[in-house]
Amino acid sequence: MLANHIIVLDAVRAKKNQAFKKDLCQQTGLSWGTLCKTVDSLLAGGYLNSRKERASRPGRPIVPLGVEGWAACFAGMDVGAEHTRVLFADLNLEPLFQQEVPTPRYTDPEPFYAWLTGVYNAALAASGVACERVRTLGLSVSGNVDSEHGVIVSGGNFGMAFGANLPVSALASRLGVPVFAMSTQVAAVWAEYQFGICAGYGNLVNIGLGVGIGSGIVANHVLLYSHPKRPVGYIGHILIPGNDHICSCGFKGCLEAYSGGDYLVGIARERFPQRLELHGAAELDRAAAAGDADARAVLDTAAAYNAVGVAAMIQLYAPDALIFSGRQSRADGYVYQRTIAELKGILPRERRNCYIGITSLGAYQSALGAMRLGYEHWELA
Ligand SMILES: [Zn+2]
Repeated sequence: MLANHIIVLDAVRAKKNQAFKKDLCQQTGLSWGTLCKTVDSLLAGGYLNSRKERASRPGRPIVPLGVEGWAACFAGMDVGAEHTRVLFADLNLEPLFQQEVPTPRYTDPEPFYAWLTGVYNAALAASGVACERVRTLGLSVSGNVDSEHGVIVSGGNFGMAFGANLPVSALASRLGVPVFAMSTQVAAVWAEYQFGICAGYGNLVNIGLGVGIGSGIVANHVLLYSHPKRPVGYIGHILIPGNDHICSCGFKGCLEAYSGGDYLVGIARERFPQRLELHGAAELDRAAAAGDADARAVLDTAAAYNAVGVAAMIQLYAPDALIFSGRQSRADGYVYQRTIAELKGILPRERRNCYIGITSLGAYQSALGAMRLGYEHWELA
């Protein structure tokens, strides 16, 4: 449940910062008393403005409310398998600054916290945002996160084994800002729901095709949180008959253990040890696009497996839209195009009206979603 000040700020923003209390009451469903109290506290904090010069008619002006963008900032950080991205946004949730650095291999909690702190502080310094203006940090991690208890359980794609169990409170105290954590795909689909081409669609699935393969789900306008013991959208670990590769999770036959970026490279190495030019994810995809039979042999299977996983998500959630993101989701990419073609081949006719496309939010998709989720957990002092 969102706090009243978040509900009101969202509603004012939705009115393009020209909101009247009467309309807000209707829009938010809050009682008149609660609305007035919330608006007053936001005005007192400087988070809302009501500028008289906006009145255009004679007589006693009815002054619209607007969000004071510069009154607060919100950080979003996404620790990916290969890259970590940080962004800062203002109270209108407009990004002010963004930065990307490589993700190191995980060794131990202390160096990991120190590294995260360094990345955050360097981005903050480069952004010119004063540290006291940042209200929350939303942190998404390519791995398992227990959002309820604020614990990063694993980050297998950058070497953090299951059971690492890092409390984010330790990071919050280093940074001096409250931290709310979630998995990358939870952040990704929430970014789509809030800011994407299909924003506001009640049923959305985001599929991340990258080093790992994951998915995030919004069902009936509700964001489904994944929990390590109650996983949601673990498409990467759907078992594919005929796939005998062992996954980082320990199971044999997981989708990710074939179609994940690093696994694909491993398979190319194993099958074609002499062909060094195929021993990279991007190289493999380019070679397949250019017609290389060996590269196609590897990627056609990956695409067929991907299609099984994606079709399962469509069957399970009947989404209005399915959005792809991650390094392997490129409109001109071979594995992406083959995946879509295979998917269309197996989808029942009734499901083919689901919109399918690539994210418009780019590489900062999850950082944006994380920022938004951090913002939603902002407590007004
Ligand atoms: Zn697995």
